Amino acid sequence: MKHKIACTGIKPTGVPHIGNYFGAIKPALALAEEYQTRYFIADYHAINSMRDPEELRLRTYDVAATWLACGLDPEKSLVYRQSQVPETFDLTLILMAFTAKGLMNRAHAYKAMVDQNLQNGKDPDDGINMGLFTYPVLMAADILLFDTDVVPVGRDQQQHLEMTADIAQAVNANYGKPLLTVPVPLIQENTHTVIGLDGRKMSKSYHNTIPLFLPAKQMRKLIMKIVTNSQTIEESKDPDSCNVFSLYRLFASAEQTEEMRKLYLAGGMGWGQAKQALFEIMDNQLSDFRTRYNDLIANRDYIDQILAEGSARARELAVQKVGYLKKEIGVA
Ligand code: ADP
Repeated sequence: MKHKIACTGIKPTGVPHIGNYFGAIKPALALAEEYQTRYFIADYHAINSMRDPEELRLRTYDVAATWLACGLDPEKSLVYRQSQVPETFDLTLILMAFTAKGLMNRAHAYKAMVDQNLQNGKDPDDGINMGLFTYPVLMAADILLFDTDVVPVGRDQQQHLEMTADIAQAVNANYGKPLLTVPVPLIQENTHTVIGLDGRKMSKSYHNTIPLFLPAKQMRKLIMKIVTNSQTIEESKDPDSCNVFSLYRLFASAEQTEEMRKLYLAGGMGWGQAKQALFEIMDNQLSDFRTRYNDLIANRDYIDQILAEGSARARELAVQKVGYLKKEIGVA
């Protein structure tokens, strides 16, 4: 019997990408033997920015197919849609009461938008909805609902996890007992922030991603667009400041990485050659996943069934937890 619980989610705001894979999907799936695992599609989080219903449905299938293609076994792990577990929103309201507004003011996604507005001479809250502002509370509910012990995420989510812990501790302190399990993030040392085509963090929000399951030709085309400096072929190049190398090492073995490092330092290798090497190693490693993904995405009925079953099982757990909490706080 596995006692510890791991939980993580992905927003269906775009096609899952290499950053999602190394930051969250791969480490999360690696926990399946040791932990009770819950993986969800954060569809209510998505509507903060995604308002096209058809697109949202499409991306929900993408995220589900990605989890399954990457190795999620629905017999061993729970996979579900956030929106199908409405107890999440009961818990969100309870947590709201324990969340200082000042804490939300410091959330980096919100702060980044305020800063951008100020830079552009706009009202600080221009275009910011309450969904975005309170995002960390909904995320805390996603996690706390299942008594989660660890949350495999990328570094970008560390602050939100700290907020989840703060909120849980505020609840526990008020009622004088551990009503909520305080979770810890599980952040991979080497893959905590995967860099995108433009050198910033790879993110659907920045439109700088390499989707995991692009057809080979399109993937190659994108890889050729990765921003590099203007050094000539002959010059020795610094692997550690190179966007191409930072992606290459995610896929390469230690020996392959060392080989590539030597090629960079020696000079004589142009960016086209480095990018071609990246394409080849990625295509090699992703092609089986891609085939599985394409089969799955063509079979929506199967995905619907998996999500319906997973959501029903998740809901049973959620009903119990929220029922218990309601009694403890005096609303039942
Ligand atoms: P995005 O930023 O592309 O919208 P999500 O917010 O849906 O991605 O994140 C889903 C998971 O993937 C989270 O655990 C997040 O930390 C992780 N993740 C997203 N982008 C990266 C990245 N560039 N490097 C590492 N992990 C990432």
